[in-house]
Amino acid sequence: MDLFTHFIVPFAILTLLKLRDFTIKDRLSGGFGGISIDFDFILVLIGFISPELFIFTHRGITHSFVFGLVTAIIFLYIISRPRVYGLINDLIKRDIKVEFNWKSVSLAYFGVLIHLFLDFLTTGGIPLLYPFSLIRFSANLYYYTDLVTTLVAIVILLVLYLRLDPKYKKIALTGFLVMLISFGGIRAYEKIEALESQTLNDGYTNITAYPTSDMFSWTMLESNGKNKYRVFTYNTLNHTVANLREVNSLSIKNGSYESAQNAIKYANTLPEVKKFRWTSPHTAINATSTSTGWNLTFYDFVGNHYGAREVTVHVEKNRNQIKY
Ligand SMILES: [Zn+2]
Repeated sequence: MDLFTHFIVPFAILTLLKLRDFTIKDRLSGGFGGISIDFDFILVLIGFISPELFIFTHRGITHSFVFGLVTAIIFLYIISRPRVYGLINDLIKRDIKVEFNWKSVSLAYFGVLIHLFLDFLTTGGIPLLYPFSLIRFSANLYYYTDLVTTLVAIVILLVLYLRLDPKYKKIALTGFLVMLISFGGIRAYEKIEALESQTLNDGYTNITAYPTSDMFSWTMLESNGKNKYRVFTYNTLNHTVANLREVNSLSIKNGSYESAQNAIKYANTLPEVKKFRWTSPHTAINATSTSTGWNLTFYDFVGNHYGAREVTVHVEKNRNQIKY
């Protein structure tokens, strides 16, 4: 989900909740919490310089229950400094002042939780339980971002910015939430439709569906539970199949299976391979034996994530590795 949506959703919920009267400062705290954890792009450089720290990436460390709280506290502390909000106030000609106290931190964390839930619904997943586990959780329902949602979110922000009757702002916020939930409902229905339209044969036993930017187009992945996959795009409106390809999890050129396995075992301990596997749940390997060792290319054959599609490492016969 985009940054605008992550601001609007907690802001809208706090505005529309009839439970108690939240002031504009409270609602802003929720919105700021909502956007705080996407400022993780600042950390990307750390992960880039040191591949061992691959959790320092977008949708990495800050997208967890524990570090989401830490991030929200830091973000709220910074934005509640008079010099910071003063500068923003001057720029946008509106008062965005928030306090730094238990209440505002709690509301910011509420914004973080909404953000985590929304990103969980998107493909690729997020490490919710970090530092206890590196597992990425994903419902694979929405694509990373949705152009229509982003554009509507910008319009809603404009409505919030303008000096309009609060009644109209509430209508806009309600409309936005209804739109998001409807898109989710349609996607859930189309995903079930895509899965139920398939018949497994040729030894394939499992099937999963991944979202694309088009809610009527799904990337289907069939597996035989061992080493073979079939990938294709299924359109739920026309019932058509496109881009069909079969993938072996391991293809070996020139060398023996055992020797390739040993090289892969070693390569799996390398930070760049660990990093790649962490972002690519479906990795296949092309292994080519050369006079000096093994060239191993790890590639993502589903391609439902952003970032590198493949990584190649060279494992020398004496196991000293050279990265290409
Ligand atoms: Zn995010």
